[in-house]
Amino acid sequence: MSVKEKITKYDKEKKIGYTLETIYLFINPILLKKEGKIYRMEKCGNKNQRELVERPHSVVVNGDYILKAVLNPKDMKIAIKHLKGPLTFFGSAAYGSSHEIEHLANENIKGIPFWDFEYVLE
Ligand SMILES: [Zn+2]
Repeated sequence: MSVKEKITKYDKEKKIGYTLETIYLFINPILLKKEGKIYRMEKCGNKNQRELVERPHSVVVNGDYILKAVLNPKDMKIAIKHLKGPLTFFGSAAYGSSHEIEHLANENIKGIPFWDFEYVLE
């Protein structure tokens, strides 16, 4: 399983920046803890429409082996480090972990299709 976090650093005076990508690679990931419930729309690779799913706000994940890679597009370097778990993720990294772990457990993501939404005229 891989989990990605992105942070954009921007210098307002020089008007230049870059987006750092941190990728965590887990071998045999296990979900130890999850907290909160976030209703959100997700589009899974093998489906045509976005679906309503529930994801935790934070997760604690461990794995037999964890590799962290920080990809810096500005200096074109990838910093690699072996990490000891468990790791805690919040927000989009937590949603991504939950999505991937659901795939590993069930193969398919269970969600409510966008078509079931009700239009409300304001
Ligand atoms: Zn998916």
